Amino acid sequence: MLIEADRGERALATGRWVKWIGGASNQDLAAIEDLAGIYALAGVHCVDVAADAAVVAAARRGLAWAEARGASRPWLMISLSDGEDPHFRKAWFAPDHCPPGCSRPCERVCPALAITASTGVIAERCYGCGRCLPACPLGLIEERGQALAADSVAPLLRQLQPDAVELHTQPGRQLAFRQRLEQVRASGVPLRRLAVSAPAELGAAELWQRFGALRRLGFRPLWQLDGRPMSGDVGDGTARAAVALLVRRRRRLPPGPLQLAGGTNRRSLAQLQRHGADAGHCAGVAFGGVARRLLQPLLLQSQARAVPLLQAADLWPLALAQARELVTPWLERC
Ligand code: SF4
Ligand code: SF4
Repeated sequence: MLIEADRGERALATGRWVKWIGGASNQDLAAIEDLAGIYALAGVHCVDVAADAAVVAAARRGLAWAEARGASRPWLMISLSDGEDPHFRKAWFAPDHCPPGCSRPCERVCPALAITASTGVIAERCYGCGRCLPACPLGLIEERGQALAADSVAPLLRQLQPDAVELHTQPGRQLAFRQRLEQVRASGVPLRRLAVSAPAELGAAELWQRFGALRRLGFRPLWQLDGRPMSGDVGDGTARAAVALLVRRRRRLPPGPLQLAGGTNRRSLAQLQRHGADAGHCAGVAFGGVARRLLQPLLLQSQARAVPLLQAADLWPLALAQARELVTPWLERC
């Protein structure tokens, strides 16, 4: 496999970093393999997936497919959290409790096609976006957290051998953050970056506290402020909101590259460039929901044929062309 150790760092330094987000609780192995392969071939610098051995194996199969076609190997990042977090949950309901006449709004709003009449929520597909929760008029849908036990972090990291870890945090969790960080360090796995994903409400003082914890343990930060976590939206509004948050907060942030995330889409770069000099402080972008949604029709077509997208010779070039349209403006940003 081609390994360009500094490709990711170079991209962060020049504002051209692109990360594909598979989803911190997404265990749809077939889609993860397909999407990791397509986005790696499109040139992303990092793929970010759930801390799950089967998911990581699926992502690595996709990366191997891309490498066989000349791609450089992106960093493999896995996501952890320091407590309850919307990125680490799944929806659940008992389908036999649903009234037969229900028009099934839950099914219609699910972007991951994770809800069916017979099975309820297909856990592997659910990535915890939460859209179905308010959609049920009877309030039958619950959310269930996916917490990782403290003593399982180090062995899991040793097993998965990621290049980077993303740690999701929330306001008021300084201690839990530090403890998670200690568990990561105890794994002994050398990490290129420790990305911190924080909601817009996390204040500057807390961000500096997180920075201090990272520095004390020798981790190099990568900041991700989530304007609209898992919005999966493609409109101008979300692109504007994510960029506005970055511009508003960047002056009070601790040192380290800052990546645009949470509501990113095709319009994000144009929105960013309107901010002139402030745009120069953006190290790059992460694409999650929009990246999946873009390729969903092709994923469905290959699924209908019972063939992986990466093996469908007439479909994957179409997927690659669409992925490149999303990613290339960032890779070539000047
Ligand atoms: S709408 Fe979101 S939370 Fe609900 S089942 Fe689908 S992916 Fe899971
Ligand atoms: S909307 Fe509620 S009642 Fe209707 S199918 Fe979904 S979970 Fe069941």
